[in-house]
Amino acid sequence: MLPRRSPIVIRSFLLRTYASTPSPHALIFLEQRQGQVDSGSLSALTAASQLGGKVTGLVVGTSEHVPAVVDKVKKLKGLTSLLHSTSELYAQQLPETLSPLLEKLLSGSEYTHVVSTPSSLAKSLLPRVAAKLDVPSVSEITSLEHDASSNSTTFTRPIYAGNAISTIRLSSSIPIKFFTVRATNFDPASFEENQEIEVKAVDPVDVPECPTEHISTQLTKSDRPDLSVAGRVVSGGRPLKNAETFAATLNPLADVLGAAVGASRAAVDAGYADNSLQVGQTGKVVAPELYMAIGISGAIQHLAGMKDSKMIVAVNKDPDAPIFQVADVGLVADLYEAVPQIIEKLKQ
Ligand code: FAD
Repeated sequence: MLPRRSPIVIRSFLLRTYASTPSPHALIFLEQRQGQVDSGSLSALTAASQLGGKVTGLVVGTSEHVPAVVDKVKKLKGLTSLLHSTSELYAQQLPETLSPLLEKLLSGSEYTHVVSTPSSLAKSLLPRVAAKLDVPSVSEITSLEHDASSNSTTFTRPIYAGNAISTIRLSSSIPIKFFTVRATNFDPASFEENQEIEVKAVDPVDVPECPTEHISTQLTKSDRPDLSVAGRVVSGGRPLKNAETFAATLNPLADVLGAAVGASRAAVDAGYADNSLQVGQTGKVVAPELYMAIGISGAIQHLAGMKDSKMIVAVNKDPDAPIFQVADVGLVADLYEAVPQIIEKLKQ
């Protein structure tokens, strides 16, 4: 004889069936610093829009910056509503102070996805909240597909320094799907001047005993384009000898091209360039129109950060350097002779 099903079991089955087909509703963390929205957030918004449902933005900060940011981002195409929370608590944008707010917003909500750019903040914030909710967080996705009928989302992301692509499917059993978006794979969302969306303030969530204290912030000041989104990048490697030679050799080339400057890890580790300029697996991932690799061997960890560039130009004195395998234009030459000549030609 079959055991009798209890009504509770049946009800939970029905609830689960009902809960397994909600329309997607993404909450996107629109990261801002000093009133500047992180450009990667705009690409993350494009990815969130591809889920095919509602997209609610979240802006957090102090009263000095939030109103202006809200005024700007509410025109972002793809957003269907916008939340903002203002407090001195959020002055430093620490994951410890932001996670209780995010948890509160998600609790009992209809959100199906939480999305962000893979910034240092989001790399700590999203997994932190996801772990509290006992769900996974998928990082740096390069494509996504949402199947509304099964309420599952399939992501791809590069692994092994970009040498393999992993496909991850989060099924309907994961009620809220967290992911960060690799900016180079999605166009940034544009602005729609006439767009009107619901904008709502949400109360900050106090953190009485914050375990982290902000001591100081050190920002690298540069007039050059932001490396992550620059259309042209000039990167240098180990043979640039020291910080002075690195700057004296590459800056004039970057100036004439209006390019951002990048570096290999060898150049960063040797102190020629700031850590924030590192391109590669453990640095920034870039995909500019033009990437110039000057005295860079082309180790797989470096290629992981630049091989999707539209045009790769390499200058290296070793004809067998691996960088030539991905270069569209390769120049076998001593960089100290070649770079000044390239600058001269470009000036003409
Ligand atoms: P080298 O390998 O020393 O190459 C220098 C090149 O310059 C050579 O090809 C040489 O022929 C050429 N050269 C020398 N003199 C001249 C000259 N006068 N004119 C023209 N060419 C010249 N690396 C990264 O870049 N980014 C990362 O994110 C990164 N992450 C890593 C993560 C891990 C876990 C590991 C293990 C390594 C990582 N690396 C990373 C390091 C990487 O493996 C390489 O060691 C590094 O990229 C080498 O830097 P390079 O090409 O500047 O130096």
